[in-house]
Amino acid sequence: MKYLLKGGRVWSEGVGEVRDLCLEDGKVVAGFTESAADRVIDVSGKEIFPGFIDLHCHLREPGFSSKETVKTGTLAAAKGGFTTVLSMPNTQPVLDNTWEMENYLRYLEDNTVVRVLPVAPLTKGRAGKELADLGSLAKLGIKFASDDGNDITNVALMRSALAYATDHGYTVLSHAEELALADGYLHAGYLTRDQGIPGISSSSESIAVARNLLLAGEVGAKIHLCHLSAKESVALLKLAKELGIQASAEVTPHHLYFADTEIQAFDTSYKVNPPIREEEDRLALREALKAGLIGAIATDHAPHTEKEKGQSLAAAPFGISSIEIAASVVNTIFADPALIYQRLSKGPSQIIGESHELKPGELADVVVFDPEVSFTVNKEKWVSKGKNSPYFTKQLKGRVVLTFRGGQIVYEQ
Ligand SMILES: [Zn+2]
Repeated sequence: MKYLLKGGRVWSEGVGEVRDLCLEDGKVVAGFTESAADRVIDVSGKEIFPGFIDLHCHLREPGFSSKETVKTGTLAAAKGGFTTVLSMPNTQPVLDNTWEMENYLRYLEDNTVVRVLPVAPLTKGRAGKELADLGSLAKLGIKFASDDGNDITNVALMRSALAYATDHGYTVLSHAEELALADGYLHAGYLTRDQGIPGISSSSESIAVARNLLLAGEVGAKIHLCHLSAKESVALLKLAKELGIQASAEVTPHHLYFADTEIQAFDTSYKVNPPIREEEDRLALREALKAGLIGAIATDHAPHTEKEKGQSLAAAPFGISSIEIAASVVNTIFADPALIYQRLSKGPSQIIGESHELKPGELADVVVFDPEVSFTVNKEKWVSKGKNSPYFTKQLKGRVVLTFRGGQIVYEQ
């Protein structure tokens, strides 16, 4: 198929310029005439980005297909403009050996709508006791490792994990959490004080951020900090970069959008780990994102069933389902297409060591975004199986209207 996207602002190699974009046989090409195109699409007034890359999502298979499947999760990703997603290894079983990982890679071929890059666990069973066989998994092309959902409590084992992962070319995705300080349901702040709810302190994150950054620096590891939520963590990231530690970081749409003053204490759709923190944290995250200290927005898309989230605040699992509206949330906050390009496309592609531009010869992973349209987030139209989203009924501005993966349309509004 030959597509001609006409009159949009195309973002590539650091700039956005209004021009036509031609796609042919799965690639971006220099150009052809309108009459040569199979389909001409008028995208005037729209922003055209290289497909978004989500460094952090949970597709739930194998083991938890009542929450999400590879099919539903990647359909939701395509709706959100994501053409590549990294899937976290908190599955059942944990894919910590080559046999199971090979099976999963074959399963992906038949079931996924966008590119999925599986993340290997750092430890066997994500149990934090014994290192997973990262050497063998690397031979299957796996490049990222994480025990996401858990940190590794044993500091010596964490250092070994970072060193071993580095020997095999991995980037470690760090879920930084000091468990001894994280025994709660919401950010330890006015909500938990007022209501007597057990709280999760900012130090539960920032102490672990400091620890993991120092260990990474010591062994020369490439470390990527997942879902930063606290202003102290942002300051530590800045210090680490000054010290020459190879660190990068992500922030989620919900940590950018919400502050704890805006959430309902007993509405479990806001229960997420790390928790939504204070106004000062939100401001620090927004500033770090704009400055490029935090290089990527990642969703931490964490779908759950309504039954699970319908339990008490104490019993309900942590997590927010958001992959299909991430760019809308970002646009609503910042109204800045350059920032969307930098932090949803370019930044994450750099973190995974890829080039990802809309120039001739590159894969046609393309997202068309309408920055002006306003809409109400509607549960009835939600694609993900996980209906656990605090955004329902919220008014957002800007939405993805068209997504190409390798020159094929995988979402069209
Ligand atoms: Zn995590």
